[in-house]
Amino acid sequence: MPNPEKNQFQRTCVGCYNKQSRNELLRMVLSPQKDIIIDLDSKLPGKGVYICPSQDCLNRALKRKRIISGKDLRAEIIKKLEDKLGALIGLAYKAGKAVSGQTNLQLALKSKKTKLLLLANDIGQNLQKNYLFLANKEGIRHYYIFDSLRLGDLLGSSPRNAVGIKEEKFALKIESYIHQREKFL
Ligand SMILES: [Zn+2]
Repeated sequence: MPNPEKNQFQRTCVGCYNKQSRNELLRMVLSPQKDIIIDLDSKLPGKGVYICPSQDCLNRALKRKRIISGKDLRAEIIKKLEDKLGALIGLAYKAGKAVSGQTNLQLALKSKKTKLLLLANDIGQNLQKNYLFLANKEGIRHYYIFDSLRLGDLLGSSPRNAVGIKEEKFALKIESYIHQREKFL
């Protein structure tokens, strides 16, 4: 039997015309000034268009004039995704679900209290080796994101080389935004 509830949450990508779960797609809305706004939280009023998180689909949609924008939409999407990532990392830290600082982080990695390891792009080689050794040993996923200055900023502290995310729920959300961002780089 068809499941009408399931269809409700499916939308068509304006780039490739494939139907996908709404959660997998980026939503955009047209502002009253006819500007495209990237609506990551799917909360803005107005009729939205949906697009796969993919540079290809964005290019196709622009080429076919399914979306028209005077702005650099790719740069805008990356910025929105990074803002979202930053907010999530800060939120996790405030909620006590993130750990930072060499001693604390090493301890959290060793005791398997970390689900996800985020490394600054400018982390030193030795420290990086050490963290990766611990993470790989425990099967902890890792990504490179931001520089140490920005990572520190997000935690309201001095520059940080790495942050460990302790809760799976935060880890999965952060990972999904990292993956979406990668598709536009
Ligand atoms: Zn698509």
